[in-house]
Amino acid sequence: MVFYVVAHEMGHQWWAHQVIGANMEGATVLSETLAQYSALMVMEKEYGRDAMRKFLKYEMDNYLRSRGQERLKERPLLKVEANQGYIHYRKGSVVLYYLKEMIGEEAVNRALRKVIQQYAYANPPYPTSYALVDALREQTPPNLQYLLKDLFEDITIFSNRTLDATAQKRPDGKFDVSINVETQKFKADAKGNETEVPVDDWIDIGAFAKPEKGKKYGDTLYRERVHITQKSSKFTFVTTELPEKAGVDPFALLIDRIPDDNTKNVVLSSTKQAASPSNRQQRQTSALTQR
Ligand SMILES: [Zn+2]
Repeated sequence: MVFYVVAHEMGHQWWAHQVIGANMEGATVLSETLAQYSALMVMEKEYGRDAMRKFLKYEMDNYLRSRGQERLKERPLLKVEANQGYIHYRKGSVVLYYLKEMIGEEAVNRALRKVIQQYAYANPPYPTSYALVDALREQTPPNLQYLLKDLFEDITIFSNRTLDATAQKRPDGKFDVSINVETQKFKADAKGNETEVPVDDWIDIGAFAKPEKGKKYGDTLYRERVHITQKSSKFTFVTTELPEKAGVDPFALLIDRIPDDNTKNVVLSSTKQAASPSNRQQRQTSALTQR
């Protein structure tokens, strides 16, 4: 925690000390969200990409808890009020981390570099949150432009959950792991009313080993990003050891109603079950794995 907080405060050497937002809605995106994203990336460099689920989960739990206590209006990130820390720190860092996962760290860094070049130590008029979003938009390929609306302009919430996870030992000693998952996507208004929208998103699936003694998080045994366009999907993949948990969005990259149900304990099944080659998602996954 000390390392994380110090990294955030160091981030302010750029975000607030060099680039400062105009005194209006969205201003804290240019200071607190970017300092917090910078801190997350320092954590990733220090502890590795697989360890990020610990920090992302911490941020997301805080966001979900706090939005339930909002007394006025929840704002989209782009128009966050200065006193809505649960949005500009917590949601902001998770959202930018997912964008980095989707467009790449270098693309995000090019956008951040542009904002610094344009506005560091500049005189008024000061930039608004649009300066950042416009710079990110320039670095985002056409097929992913929807992300900027989802992450910055709207309040977007997923309900990803794993219904069951099973494993079966193969003759070669590895394991066939199957997961049945549900994915729903919602847009929320300022009062928290949710409207379901079609899912057409890139979401990770994965599996984790049992944590070693004294550790809370097990090693990542499998990680893959899949394109999900329907509520129910089944995925099958192979791991070298028996996972303890498996599921959908296991790294908590997306804002999710209940992050804890994204993974489930894997049940080892002894009987050979009939394969279902007619399952479209399953074929899609193996096609992706082969690539
Ligand atoms: Zn700060």
